[in-house]
Amino acid sequence: MSIYLNQQLSRLVPYTPGEQPQDRQFIKLNTNESPYPPPPAVMQAFTQTEMENLRLYSDPQARRLKQQLAKQYGVESENVFVTNGSDEALCIAFMAYAKDGRGVAFPDISYGFYSVFSDLYGIEVQKVPLKEDFSIDPQQYFNLHKTIVIANPNAPTGLALSLDEVQNIVANNADSVVMIDEAYVDFGAESAVQLTKKYPNLLVVQTFSKSRSMAGARLGYAIGNAALIQDLETIRFSINPYNVNRVTLKAGELALQNQPYFDENCKRIIRTRQVVQTRLRELGFVLTDSKTNFVFAKPPKGDAKQLYLALKENGILVRHFDQPRVCDYLRITIGSEQEMECFLKTVEGLL
Ligand SMILES: *Cc1c(COP(=O)(O)O)cnc(C)c1O
Repeated sequence: MSIYLNQQLSRLVPYTPGEQPQDRQFIKLNTNESPYPPPPAVMQAFTQTEMENLRLYSDPQARRLKQQLAKQYGVESENVFVTNGSDEALCIAFMAYAKDGRGVAFPDISYGFYSVFSDLYGIEVQKVPLKEDFSIDPQQYFNLHKTIVIANPNAPTGLALSLDEVQNIVANNADSVVMIDEAYVDFGAESAVQLTKKYPNLLVVQTFSKSRSMAGARLGYAIGNAALIQDLETIRFSINPYNVNRVTLKAGELALQNQPYFDENCKRIIRTRQVVQTRLRELGFVLTDSKTNFVFAKPPKGDAKQLYLALKENGILVRHFDQPRVCDYLRITIGSEQEMECFLKTVEGLL
């Protein structure tokens, strides 16, 4: 650390991404990427002409992609905000709606970035404890007079709130923005996007990183009332108007034209998840009812960290969180049928 760094930032503990090994070949079940590639049509984003066009800036309004997203969700372009991964949408929304002393509330166990953004901006945090079974009690979020952010389904628990429960939280916080982070919604939960037409305080955040197989492209978006989107655009244009590169914008447009391909992949991942859940339960694991592309599983014996390390020695990466309440669990991404078969065989052997 240099002597020049801003005092407040000198204490910042950054987000720890899952391992991305660049050397040895692992079966990667640690960062919730899709085991399936984007549809072949997305390759058209990488033509000679597109590469030559890299000399030009990208469309700072991402007009074509916004139009397509708007059409897909039955909203208007003015309701769509496009970002460099959904982390950027969240980062800008935290700046817009929580930095003013109002503070933010989110579950004690959730996506690690919420705490990091809060520290980055010096936002006061109220952590709302999950129930013993890791579920969210919606009533605990009513009328908090704080900005609220909830991942639905939640990570790393995998548990989802129903649309009614989300609506109750939004309706009972009319004076605050409620952000619903739907990174995993396509794997079995109900999206709150349609509620954005009724509630001006609801911002729904989604990503191309998980169900749409494009984690490396960095593309995310938020949907909400036009006034909210305008706030976010003002900040984005004050930081980086060309936040999404040309190739990624193009790849996103092409991906949206292939929705059935993604629906099929999601179904396949859900089927694999069910097989993995059943087999792990048979082996004595305790699991949550995951509605995501991962399972959250407590090994029957030995500690979770030990199993994580043993799996790694066997060339399989999963995620372990060294944190109270969840340190007995592993978060295991659902890979291809073959990868999961290998994972299950290895676990069986290790137990
Ligand atoms: C993966 C993830 C994101 C963000 O991913 P991006 O790649 O930045 O779009 C956001 N929220 C949750 C809960 C996630 O798991």
